[in-house]
Amino acid sequence: MKCIFCKNDSSNSKSVEHIIPESLGNKKNILSKGIVCDSCNNYFGNKIEKNVLEMPYFKSLRGRIMIENKKGKIPRISGFTKNKEKVEITFSLNGGNTFEVLYKDEKTLGSLLSHNEIYVPFIPEPPMNDLLISKFIGKIAIEALAKRVSSIEDWQNDFIENESLDQLRDFVRYGKGYPIWPYHLRRIDSENQIKYDKKLNKFLEKLNEYDFLIPDNSLTDGDIHKINNLYFVMGIMGIEYTINLTNAGLNRYTTWLSDNQNKSILQMDKSEFHSNLNI
Ligand SMILES: [Zn+2]
Repeated sequence: MKCIFCKNDSSNSKSVEHIIPESLGNKKNILSKGIVCDSCNNYFGNKIEKNVLEMPYFKSLRGRIMIENKKGKIPRISGFTKNKEKVEITFSLNGGNTFEVLYKDEKTLGSLLSHNEIYVPFIPEPPMNDLLISKFIGKIAIEALAKRVSSIEDWQNDFIENESLDQLRDFVRYGKGYPIWPYHLRRIDSENQIKYDKKLNKFLEKLNEYDFLIPDNSLTDGDIHKINNLYFVMGIMGIEYTINLTNAGLNRYTTWLSDNQNKSILQMDKSEFHSNLNI
């Protein structure tokens, strides 16, 4: 068995790979062990995902909509008092609308009690041109594609030998080829669509979802179907992220968007945009 990223032998690998991090609410969408080797799994976990999840936007998002991390904790959000003393806030899943405030000294407590106000900076979107985010989305895109085709017999060899994915593979795993792999980012929905059900103790609406967009018919050369642009489109808490799996370009996506009144495929019926991955 070979790893879909580094193509090295992964027969002895022990970890399953979460396509979207657990700390963004994904418990079940995983690749079984060996599809991604332990070494790549560690690299993505420690060098990419961990740093992305600690970015101010993702940290505050996880805190404000209360997504538990792997250890079942909700991240703290930074805030400040009316007198600008720093505090940290944790929302609680159990206590209705209560939250905990961590303060560092009596003076801060004094301001909290006398003004009864806390200010929490709202960070609406992640950054636009960020190397870590481009690797993060690129890694999810490759894994989501692997998952999508994994019902096909012998898919793994074809997937590994598919040269049209090599540029993105090399970029996300080794940083090769491009200073940054461009991604498209926009808000398509409110992040507060998610409902937490106390009785069931879980989130009822989808925290994240994704699909693939092939804007043009594939070109046929003998038995080989060539796809010029294969876009991965993912929604996380109301933000749509799009990346091209086959080349580092977004032009065809932006023209596709303007041809389709800027709709998101995540909000369209499948028949409207054709997500046929029988490549
Ligand atoms: Zn690997």
